Amino acid sequence: MSAQHIGIFGGGQLGRMLAQAGLPLGLQCSFVENTPDCPAAVLGPVYPSGQLADFAAQAEVISLEFENTPLADVDRLPADQPLYPPRLALATAQNRLLEKALFAQLDIPVPGYRAVHQPADLHAAVAALGLPLVVKTATGGYDGKGQAILRDAAQTDIVWQQLGAGQVVLIAEAFVPFQREVSIIAVRGQDGEIRCWPLAENHHHEGILSHSIVPAPDSDGLLADAQAYISRLLEHLQYVGVLTLELFVTASGLVANEMAPRVHNSGHWSIEGAVCSQFENHMRAVAGLPLGSTALVQPCVMINIIGQHPRREAILAIEGAHLHLYGKAERPGRKLGHITLMAAEPDVLRERQRIVAQCLPNPLALLKYANVFSKKPGNCLTF
Ligand code: AMP
Repeated sequence: MSAQHIGIFGGGQLGRMLAQAGLPLGLQCSFVENTPDCPAAVLGPVYPSGQLADFAAQAEVISLEFENTPLADVDRLPADQPLYPPRLALATAQNRLLEKALFAQLDIPVPGYRAVHQPADLHAAVAALGLPLVVKTATGGYDGKGQAILRDAAQTDIVWQQLGAGQVVLIAEAFVPFQREVSIIAVRGQDGEIRCWPLAENHHHEGILSHSIVPAPDSDGLLADAQAYISRLLEHLQYVGVLTLELFVTASGLVANEMAPRVHNSGHWSIEGAVCSQFENHMRAVAGLPLGSTALVQPCVMINIIGQHPRREAILAIEGAHLHLYGKAERPGRKLGHITLMAAEPDVLRERQRIVAQCLPNPLALLKYANVFSKKPGNCLTF
């Protein structure tokens, strides 16, 4: 018997889009979120984390859209209640050291890395891995926060002070001289079936995803490796639901950066651009329903709306443009919505992208579309 009611940790836009995808399938959602007027609240009841027992009692299956869902909350769920994705996937994705160790164990290429518990470890990492080093907090970082690039050995102790000073464990990674960043998103059903969407090429601005191009240009030669890597993870973790793997493209092939045990911003294009979206397939998987096709309908560009809303009229006047607003108030750096552009011809897609850029109120977005991309993680400190 497939499930009807899915409980979801997190009530942000990902939860909202999951519930939207579940509606026509007859699936109901409820959410754990401490902000009552969160984006998902229009689609189902919202429980504060203090009312986990009530939340769990409503749902047959528990899932999540927030990868920093506290493990302590997960552990308060009834032991016999299915949790998809499984706890191990969540625990691994929440700790960059565990995550890198799993990648290495499964022969998924990773940059050289060291755990850093004290200043001497960071000096040892410089000696072993060379410079530059990307130094990150092992837990809790997101969108480039909690990171620094160490370029000068004389600055080692300053980086230690800035990032951790003994309060947290750090990971020091060799700097990957990547050509571009891509992600692969895949879904695994309860019967073990795996389906992958095409690769997305991801562009960031100030540490936040600005847009994704799908399929990633010139990615035919990368797809088989990406599919093999994510399939190994899905099988090893006995995963159910959608998993995302972020990868660097280097001269010698793909190198894994991190995984997200959830639907992902670089997969939003799939709502219109794939036969079955990441949201619908996640809902199908966790409910125990057959998976849908992940095939591409048309090439897409997904553009995030960050900080300020554009005029709806202007966006919707563009042929092939789909607008998704998350019902959030404007705030600098906040993801408020996204636009998916579709066109069969790359030139047409690029032209539509240029028109969207002119409609976005955020002037930084205009710079992005003039191809002024920074390879430096935006929120990251450089030493
Ligand atoms: P993360 O939070 O790990 O996704 O890192 C944020 C961004 O920092 C990535 O999207 C990359 O642009 C950059 N970055 C992270 N790790 C490395 C690395 N080892 N080498 C080069 N760039 C990196």
